[in-house]
Amino acid sequence: MPELPEVETVRRGLLPAMEGRVINRATVNRQDLRFPFPERMADRLTGARVLGLRRRSKYILADLSTGETLLIHLGMSGRMLISGVTLGEFHYDHPAPAKHDHVVLDMEGGARITFNDARRFGAMDMMETAEADTHWLLRDIGPEPLGNAFNEDYLTQRFRRRKTPVKSALLDQKIVAGLGNIYVCEVLHRAGIDPRRTAGAIAQRRVAGLVPIIREVLQEAIEAGGSSLRDYRQADGELGYFQHNFRVYDRENALCPTEGCGGRISRVVQSGRATFFCARCQR
Ligand SMILES: [Zn+2]
Repeated sequence: MPELPEVETVRRGLLPAMEGRVINRATVNRQDLRFPFPERMADRLTGARVLGLRRRSKYILADLSTGETLLIHLGMSGRMLISGVTLGEFHYDHPAPAKHDHVVLDMEGGARITFNDARRFGAMDMMETAEADTHWLLRDIGPEPLGNAFNEDYLTQRFRRRKTPVKSALLDQKIVAGLGNIYVCEVLHRAGIDPRRTAGAIAQRRVAGLVPIIREVLQEAIEAGGSSLRDYRQADGELGYFQHNFRVYDRENALCPTEGCGGRISRVVQSGRATFFCARCQR
């Protein structure tokens, strides 16, 4: 499931093909994904120029010259493919239409953007750009972890007296946007904090210390995504999925990567989701 760094990688991959360019033709091959598509979506997209492509949490937002914004969510298995363009020395012809190609955007400049989603947990919606922040999927989301509103004071405030485990608190999208299971496990390992600890019982100093670690872990993954983008372009034009070496995620029984620790990675289930951590160096 794509998390914030993967979505950011997809956004960056789409930029050269989409930003500043007109959608010459939008083709919508079904009526819904996870939710129904907005009415007349193909008509409303066709002819619009993409003024900007931004990300909010795990959503990509394309602001259009028509005053509307297209929201894209990859869900569990959504994939974005670019074809028909020369990127660097590589040229991609349009592949034959495939099963699960739900939305196709033919861009000015010759690129074709295909949204393919086998499991259909993805979503697309359209709204007035001026009302994007209050869209029902976006209005309750907390600050961006890489933005200024997410800082030490803010996080210690939000953790105060909170009775939930620290892992659940970091997964709470109202506290911070876009963090998912994988990166929360990585962050807590790097911070040396046991994921089962009660958020409100952790010393303020240690809570504050989570902020730079969260930024660091996400930035590293975004950079890894950037290099994979170049690799994927060379492969087939698919954006956003990359092999990333996690320190604890999905590494049950592996030796803890913390220098001098010697512990092994444990797996427990919290709120129905797997948590990976080292009981020796995470306290
Ligand atoms: Zn350890």
